[in-house]
Amino acid sequence: MKVTLSFDNGPTAAVTSHVLDTLAQHRAKATFFLVAENLTNPANRAVAERAAEEGHWIGNHTLTHSTQLGDSDDPHLAEREIGQAQQLIGDLASRDLLFRPYGRGGVLDRRLLSRPSLTYLQQHAYTCVLWNCVPRDWEQPDTWVDRCLADLTTRDWSLVVLHDLPTGAMRHLPRFLDSLTELGADLVQDFPPDCVPIRQGHLHRPIGHLLAR
Ligand SMILES: [Zn+2]
Repeated sequence: MKVTLSFDNGPTAAVTSHVLDTLAQHRAKATFFLVAENLTNPANRAVAERAAEEGHWIGNHTLTHSTQLGDSDDPHLAEREIGQAQQLIGDLASRDLLFRPYGRGGVLDRRLLSRPSLTYLQQHAYTCVLWNCVPRDWEQPDTWVDRCLADLTTRDWSLVVLHDLPTGAMRHLPRFLDSLTELGADLVQDFPPDCVPIRQGHLHRPIGHLLAR
């Protein structure tokens, strides 16, 4: 059983540094998908720099995490939410430009992307990283670990979405990582191919069901 960890919507200095400490103790590497406007706070920027230095990958999770790309007909939305975010991320970015769209409630549906945003991702050679395991840590911060562990056993390779936000959920990250070790899970940084429909701008999986009509 392979498991890949991702942390979305940060960085938030206090919580992200706790997550980094915990990952270091377990020698685990993950990806942080940042809401880039958070980086205008110097303490948040510093913790994101630490994440990159410690070998975690830094991805783009939009500038403001406010409007789903497939839920708007604003022609400048992709440039702003993807392009301006990437500018703020700057040299923290991984070698591949990783982008994860905002999917409200963890739902993968037609609100995820629009035709113009797909074109934008392709033209700028982004790698689009989705997910297949959402234990809803933001909703149930004290019970996500057991739900997540049960869900992991249902597939060969899970890409888990957690949130380095001040909900209290990350207090349970040490226990989660201990349980993964006990289960013999193979913790990897790379992504399951099924979760990566676009690689360096090239379409590798059908995404018609994720595009606004
Ligand atoms: Zn998010």
